[in-house]
Amino acid sequence: MDDCIFCQIVDGDIPSRTVYEDGDVMAFLDANPLAPGHTLVIPKDHHETLNDLPDDTAAEVFAALHDLTPAVEAAVDADGSNVAFNNGAAAGQEVPHVHGHVVPRFEDDGGNPIHAVAGQRPDLSDDELDGIAADIEAER
Ligand code: AMP
Ligand code: ZN
Repeated sequence: MDDCIFCQIVDGDIPSRTVYEDGDVMAFLDANPLAPGHTLVIPKDHHETLNDLPDDTAAEVFAALHDLTPAVEAAVDADGSNVAFNNGAAAGQEVPHVHGHVVPRFEDDGGNPIHAVAGQRPDLSDDELDGIAADIEAER
């Protein structure tokens, strides 16, 4: 994808502070960090969302997140981290090349947990929850 920022980083056409690279995956510092050490983990091949990732690529991306998260936390002496994907434009994804965020967190940093990302919590009955669970199971 010629006009994709992250494909251009993979190709070396845009500079990045790369912290990890192998044949399938790359990780680099976010250019506009939410915290020191904020790192993005991407597949090298262009896929827009998590839903588009082939199984083996998804496994490679998760393995890199699993490996890098403790390294990121240790490097900036963080107390924890939020590890998350903005999956699709409706969820706030701005760069349409799938990427996992590792955002280091610090005691009393004033931030919020992942529970804060959505709008108002829905008030769902037990029947509605049962129906949603069954629908998800059926969609797989
Ligand atoms: P998202 O909203 O999940 O698509 O996040 C995109 C992220 O990419 C943002 O946190 C940006 O700061 C980051 N970003 C955009 N351009 C670059 C770049 N050239 N190098 C590193 N990070 C970038
Ligand atoms: Zn791309």
